[in-house]
Amino acid sequence: MSVMGYNVSFAFAGEDFEKVVLEYGGFAPSEGDGAYWMVELPAMLRMLQAAARTGATATDVRLMLLKMIAGISERSGCCPDCDESIDSYERALREYREAVEKQQHEASMTPESHPYVVSSSGKIHTCTCQSKPGQRTIEHPGATLQEFTHRSRGHFYDAGVDSSAKRLTANELAAWLTRREVVKRCKLCEPALPGAYASEASDVESTARG
Ligand SMILES: [Zn+2]
Ligand SMILES: [Zn+2]
Repeated sequence: MSVMGYNVSFAFAGEDFEKVVLEYGGFAPSEGDGAYWMVELPAMLRMLQAAARTGATATDVRLMLLKMIAGISERSGCCPDCDESIDSYERALREYREAVEKQQHEASMTPESHPYVVSSSGKIHTCTCQSKPGQRTIEHPGATLQEFTHRSRGHFYDAGVDSSAKRLTANELAAWLTRREVVKRCKLCEPALPGAYASEASDVESTARG
């Protein structure tokens, strides 16, 4: 994650503090209150001096510091990373829902109606093949924006679905085959091909997955 710098101006204990430097990321520790944040030392020292002069307490200083960092992440209410992740979290949720819908839709197909699966690499399987072509565990992006952002810092979300794998009827497979020069059949499930391709049993590659 990259380092983000901010200038914050505020009043505390009767004094104005202009463009105090705050940093997010970098060398700051990743645990506890104010995790990932750093604040410039001259401003800290002046705040403590102002507090001592006016009778403001350590709690007042602490609340002021928390308010400073909260003001920067208003959109998410968490941190700059969460602010930046709002759009990608929404996209991830959308991808997740689409993946689940596709999976549910395919689950409603029967081996009789849609006996074939063509994997992303163009290999033909029966839908009951033990290599489970096109089927992956769909990972939820996270129940909240925070969970999504903090768990996946620096990673891109991938629903984990092979979206290019297709479940096909015999007719659809026959039509698909007319557009292929090379026919690749899975060696594990050895699908019987429809129509004019029924005699194609030679090819058969040695790898199980595709
Ligand atoms: Zn956050
Ligand atoms: Zn197979």
